[in-house]
Amino acid sequence: MLKELLRAVAHVLSPEVCPICGLTLAEGETLMCTDCLLQLPRTHFHLSPFNILHHRLGPAVPLDRAAAWYYYVKQSLTARMIVDMKYSGRPRQGQIMGEIYAREILPSGFFSGVDALVPVPMHYSKRLLRGYNQTEEICLGVSRATGLKIADVLRAPISHGVQSRRSAAQRKAAVQGTFAASARAADYDGRHLLIVDDIITTGATMQEALASLHSACPSSTLSVLALAATL
Ligand SMILES: [Zn+2]
Repeated sequence: MLKELLRAVAHVLSPEVCPICGLTLAEGETLMCTDCLLQLPRTHFHLSPFNILHHRLGPAVPLDRAAAWYYYVKQSLTARMIVDMKYSGRPRQGQIMGEIYAREILPSGFFSGVDALVPVPMHYSKRLLRGYNQTEEICLGVSRATGLKIADVLRAPISHGVQSRRSAAQRKAAVQGTFAASARAADYDGRHLLIVDDIITTGATMQEALASLHSACPSSTLSVLALAATL
């Protein structure tokens, strides 16, 4: 009760605004206003098993499902939300986005049969600098919506630097060997693992993560979930 009252007072004193349209968020709205949430350029990939993301990531590694919440368009306001989450010290934003997305697709059965969520790892130097790994935050939100546990079984022992300015071929070369499965990964062999990332562009990073997991857990079923993907 007191918590709710304090929250209401905080809302009046410093109302949050929608990062997309700039309007003040109403009580009960988080992340963005309801209008903007409804107008997100959703991919609906979770409804089509052989969507373009699935096609982009395969067929080097057997992939069961692949979905992303919305289309990532550079410089757009919806892209800005992910950039803010990654670089502006807003880890909670990742949790909220992950939770909203997971709740949206939960009724479709996308998570049926999945045993655990695996965050795409971040090299420790980058993590130290940023203070958090946004994919772990997204996993926390997805876990809250689905009840799935998080299996932190991938490591990033080598830093691959900043990918955004590289060509597709350069990205592929840069990420080779950057991920390794931890010893605990073997415990998940034969289980269905859902690898979670923020944005998928060329797919090079995700393919590398899938390959690492596949070599450690050859009998596992692997699927992919991201907040956004480029066309
Ligand atoms: Zn809005």
